[in-house]
Amino acid sequence: MTQVVGKEQSTSKNLVAHPLENIEDVEEFYAAINRHHLTHAITKERPYTYWTIELYDKKNGIRGGGGLGVLAADTRRVAEESNVPFVLITPFYPSEQHQHYIKEGDRFNNYTTHENVDYHDYGYQFLDTVNIHCNNTLVSLDVIEKVLGSTRIICITEPGFGELYSGDSGGDHRLFQEVALGFGGYQALKLAGLKPAIMQLNEVATFFAALARLDELTKNGMDFYEAVVYTRKHTLYTNHTLVQAAEADFSFEQFERFVFPNLKSLAVKKWLADKFENGHIKLSAVTIEIAELRSGVSKLHARVANYRDLAGNKVKFKAVTNGIDIPTWTDKDIIKYLTEKGIIDKFYLPTADYLEKINSIEAKDIIKLKKHGRKELNEVLAHRPNQYGKYVNIPEDALLFEFKRRFVDYKRPWLAFSNPERLKKILEENNAYYILCGRVHEGDDRMAGRLHNLLDLVDRDEILRERVHYLPDYDEELGRALSIGSNVSINNPIVGLEACGTSWMKDIINFGLLISTHDGGVADAAADNYLNIHGNTESEEIESLYLRMEEAVATWQHDFDLEYLIKRQLAAFLPVISGTRMLKDYLEYLF
Ligand SMILES: *Cc1c(COP(=O)(O)O)cnc(C)c1O
Repeated sequence: MTQVVGKEQSTSKNLVAHPLENIEDVEEFYAAINRHHLTHAITKERPYTYWTIELYDKKNGIRGGGGLGVLAADTRRVAEESNVPFVLITPFYPSEQHQHYIKEGDRFNNYTTHENVDYHDYGYQFLDTVNIHCNNTLVSLDVIEKVLGSTRIICITEPGFGELYSGDSGGDHRLFQEVALGFGGYQALKLAGLKPAIMQLNEVATFFAALARLDELTKNGMDFYEAVVYTRKHTLYTNHTLVQAAEADFSFEQFERFVFPNLKSLAVKKWLADKFENGHIKLSAVTIEIAELRSGVSKLHARVANYRDLAGNKVKFKAVTNGIDIPTWTDKDIIKYLTEKGIIDKFYLPTADYLEKINSIEAKDIIKLKKHGRKELNEVLAHRPNQYGKYVNIPEDALLFEFKRRFVDYKRPWLAFSNPERLKKILEENNAYYILCGRVHEGDDRMAGRLHNLLDLVDRDEILRERVHYLPDYDEELGRALSIGSNVSINNPIVGLEACGTSWMKDIINFGLLISTHDGGVADAAADNYLNIHGNTESEEIESLYLRMEEAVATWQHDFDLEYLIKRQLAAFLPVISGTRMLKDYLEYLF
């Protein structure tokens, strides 16, 4: 693996001025890191460690809730493909939720089922158990492990662990899960014989891992202040949220039951107790204290995330825009096509001259590849029922719009239904279909109600009933299939509320047209690179959305326009989309 793909071989001459600028090859990349005599370079025994309460990787037995988990899974896959020593530490949830939707009489009923999951079915090996103190009892946690190339997934689990995000976000059970991941996971690393070179905390639910490290260093005799400096220097806090105020807090009393009993160092206990304000603590506030490195997940998000440290100073976040693992989410024929055209290299990075090479993409190829994608989508739809329990098939010559993301307020899944007559006209006149996909969070009655209303609206109209389909239990399979098999995807969060989003990346890489508001990672590039929804009010945005839908239809009818827009999207976003680029950005920031 010494061949360098893409750019010319970069030389040590370049490395002096811009250490990591021209390096496409991972081995070369590592050589460059070592040449810089970094004090904490990563090795098999001292890996990059990534802590996350959520992983979305059903192939490895763990179902997530949304983007946070998908990002974690993709980061690990990219590390495996790039041969980076990487350990992901996460809970293995012994139970998972499934959402169902069915029409009974004239009412849509949704219900949730809970399925047991057994880690033995997914190739994990049991290592040993570790103990943590919780609520006056000693809880024993199983440590399990799965090695995948240069990476591993290490999980802690026990029968009473429950489901992802079960209970209130400030509740005891959530605190138990977070404490188990942090203190249990840190002991699990030691069991596996590993020392973290770096600890990346994927959101604040993983704070306790860094706390466990601080405690261990102090207990082992390091001066407390040195231990704080050391932990801070090697911890990266990746923030995905916008507003600190929205975060739930925990009480001192809860910490007395779940956290303090797990600390061995009196100095660390005092340090932590000092961080409470009026008897309460926000994990973001202490995570900021324990992590000197901090990142946000898109350029816009890193700029606008509004966080303050305990002294009241605004926190700065380094922008590392999320990427996706291209082979996971892209039609195989499209990957082959992009590779043969010299647009991406074997590490799924854009080549040095990708901008020029993109010019050789032709409309007839886009259309052919998309037909193939439609077939793959229909194969998935053959076993994924719609809201009526029926299996739909989207004809090869029909145009498909889709909206696939969690059913939450700020993502506005109902926007295209604001004017049903207008939507109907677009669909009917152009032989088009609309697939809507996305789970409502269990217990979110308000959003469940909005979904019901939307399905009722569709149900009342013969044309909408034929052309609009809601697919329950949104998951990776549907996410991938829809990106591959649709023509146009719609992403319309309220501007300012999406941290990054990655679904739209899956659509662009699969030669779909993107209609989007200028938000999250989409705002990494200028708004004229895709079909932008704009407006000063929601009704202006709705009008803009319909105009864009009409434009998307016309674009798919004119080869020249289609070719132009697909190329433009790729030229603007390919580097953003590449998960390898993201990992490279993290490594550059960390080392
Ligand atoms: C890609 C993907 C996501 C990411 O969603 P965003 O809303 O774009 O952050 C979430 N869930 C599933 C199942 C996915 O495949």
